[in-house]
Amino acid sequence: MIEIELARVYGFCPGVRRAVEMVEEHLRARGPLATLGAIVHNARVVDRLASLGAQGVRSLDEVQAPAVAITAHGAGPEVVEEIRRRGLVLVDTTCPIVKRAQEAAHRLSGEGFTVLIYGEATHPEVQGLLAWTGGKGHATLIPADVPSPKGGRLAIVSQTTKEREAFWDFVGAVVGRSRSALRELQVVDTTCPETGRRYRAAQDLARRVEAIFVVGSRNSANTRRLAEVVRATGVPTHFIESEEEISPGSLAGIARVGVTAGASTPDEAVQAVIARLRGWGGKP
Ligand code: SF4
Repeated sequence: MIEIELARVYGFCPGVRRAVEMVEEHLRARGPLATLGAIVHNARVVDRLASLGAQGVRSLDEVQAPAVAITAHGAGPEVVEEIRRRGLVLVDTTCPIVKRAQEAAHRLSGEGFTVLIYGEATHPEVQGLLAWTGGKGHATLIPADVPSPKGGRLAIVSQTTKEREAFWDFVGAVVGRSRSALRELQVVDTTCPETGRRYRAAQDLARRVEAIFVVGSRNSANTRRLAEVVRATGVPTHFIESEEEISPGSLAGIARVGVTAGASTPDEAVQAVIARLRGWGGKP
């Protein structure tokens, strides 16, 4: 008999859960809408929302519905303006933690700071943050890429899903390199605690089990990173999108198995994995 243990914290974070619920509520009460980008990086959820009338689009030109949802990653002010200009109903599911980062980027840029965003320049959330700096900000993960701050005034914020420790290491490295050019520095830690909570719970779980299944889409950056964190503990790690990918061989000789999931993985995907493991003799 295999024992199954779930991570203390796993799956949907509050921001993604809220975004999915807001879209579902709109579809139920007011009818079809378009989502600007995937509302969550999970095919199961996207397909379910599509069956209820949510059309995923890459640009406002593709919108056919009378309403548009901005995802939990947020968007720049020009996108919000354009939605209004086109007379579309806005369903703004921007996560409140992302909103806080946008407000910081906007305020600091307005105060004349060179705003530096610790994050991936091509990520939708970072693109939104850059837009909130009025296009004057810079995004990078590499301290050597930091430009010389205008008037010596530098402000640093983070892409919310970056790890807190890594953000502060970055801040330390930037300050070390730019010391001679700096006159004033503002740092706003906009990292989200949800990311770290999932990593710590998975690391904790890895101490008690002989293998871990990480459930989530391969196109989900947060699930890929969660799998890396689990793998780094040394415990055999299986990154699976669904229960269909569990092979009986991966359970051979194992007495305790763990399950965790990224912040974009819905509960039903995790429950389906547990049901499959139980079917093969696992007990929770
Ligand atoms: S990870 Fe954090 S910032 Fe991102 S959507 Fe979830 S709660 Fe919001």
